[in-house]
Amino acid sequence: MHLRVLFLLFAFLLSHKTYGQLLKPCSTVNSVHNEWVTRFQQRLPNDDFLRSSLTLYFPIKIFISGKVHSQSGTISPEKLMDEICHLNHLYKQANISFYLESPPTVLSSANYESIETEFELGQLLQSYKSTNAIPVYVVENALDACGFNVFHQGVNKGIVLSSECYKVKGALFAHEIGHFLGLPHTFQGWEGIAFDYTLKAPEHWENVKVERADGSNCRSAGDGFCDTAPDYLNLRWSCSDSSKSPIPLLDPMGKSFYSDGSLIMGYALDPCPNRFSKEQIMTMRAYADEFYPTLFKGDLPLRINQTLPIVNTPIENTQVNLSNGVTFSWEKVPGTYKYIIEVSPMPNMALITSRFEIAPDSLSYMTKQLITGRKYYWRLRSLNIYSFCSSVSKIYSFSTVLATSNVDLSANDNSIIINNPISEELSLKFSSEKFPLQLILLNNSGQTIFQKNYTQSVGQTNLSISVSAFPPGQYTLTVRSAQKTQSHSVVIIP
Ligand SMILES: [Zn+2]
Repeated sequence: MHLRVLFLLFAFLLSHKTYGQLLKPCSTVNSVHNEWVTRFQQRLPNDDFLRSSLTLYFPIKIFISGKVHSQSGTISPEKLMDEICHLNHLYKQANISFYLESPPTVLSSANYESIETEFELGQLLQSYKSTNAIPVYVVENALDACGFNVFHQGVNKGIVLSSECYKVKGALFAHEIGHFLGLPHTFQGWEGIAFDYTLKAPEHWENVKVERADGSNCRSAGDGFCDTAPDYLNLRWSCSDSSKSPIPLLDPMGKSFYSDGSLIMGYALDPCPNRFSKEQIMTMRAYADEFYPTLFKGDLPLRINQTLPIVNTPIENTQVNLSNGVTFSWEKVPGTYKYIIEVSPMPNMALITSRFEIAPDSLSYMTKQLITGRKYYWRLRSLNIYSFCSSVSKIYSFSTVLATSNVDLSANDNSIIINNPISEELSLKFSSEKFPLQLILLNNSGQTIFQKNYTQSVGQTNLSISVSAFPPGQYTLTVRSAQKTQSHSVVIIP
């Protein structure tokens, strides 16, 4: 299968560790439906910007590698919400909004973690398709490129993104969608060819006319847009504070100018790219109208209230009786495909010690995994196909108590732990009849990180374990005596 891969967004980012290897340059320079785009550009009005007030809603279908999408992966389910929120933020200027056609499809096969050949890419595209949405494939590394638009036998097959290039609030996703909607690079014609940028540019470069700094040939040269500055920079570059290229370039007439790093279709590094030009926006909207008239709708199929998830229980700052477990409950958030409850001992949620995933048809969840006598902070997330920016609730708190009599409490071994969460020392109190006993501390992976035997003692005895060398997180303390073995959850905080 021969796939023409367009616009490999290659990165000569020697200084960026995440880009690690040298990524391949682009082998083809034509944009998607290039002739149509060129014809449309001839019709573009030179003055007024005829911006439509109608928002175009595009469904996208995400196919994402299981490794990339795991909780510890580059684009976790939570980060994906943030990424689409940012994509919509960047496209707001074009009155274009994206939503998920359905929950992301997780590619469980390790074959799709990394795409090394065009054959493998063909297999991925063949196995996972969407005709109702823009297909977006996210793998760890695809053909050593940060991303590209795949155009095969006249069909726009979707975009591929390499999570190795993932940057929080980056423009990569928006750039590739720009290609999908017909936009060329701002440096069209220069893709993949080395040039000494201190020299005057030639009149032609490959088959594309070189754009002049005075704009006199803007419609027929470079990217064909007259409201994007000339650009010859086909490698990734850092822009200055004013979004300009760090060095001036020389056009074929010897006139110097700077490329514009604010344009999403150029190669300036994040966080510079943040806009499309008016002509680029008109082209994307007209392209969608021409090639995908049924794909976009005038309005979201489901109107949802873009407000934070509303939670009901535990009631804020109350005490919860742990003997019945802690029950979390909330109002339905339309469009949710998974709810996630996050629990932390810290008010800023910097350390998540419990995380519960709940199916979309449930509006409550009960757990007995929390510890008595503690203050907890929590929040609710909605992983949602329509709403991305407001998918997490405010942070709430509650305390846990065990509503038993004093007699019962003294008999209960939960009372042996004096402090929890723990920052430096875990303190324990035992009466003499418990001895001899053994203490074992296991980390979250079940590995023993502390173990000690204690012999006979008289009266009340305080024991302590220094935990300053252990990383923050949830641990299990097991107390083993002749009478019984009991385990307790403990939390070590930084
Ligand atoms: Zn590109």
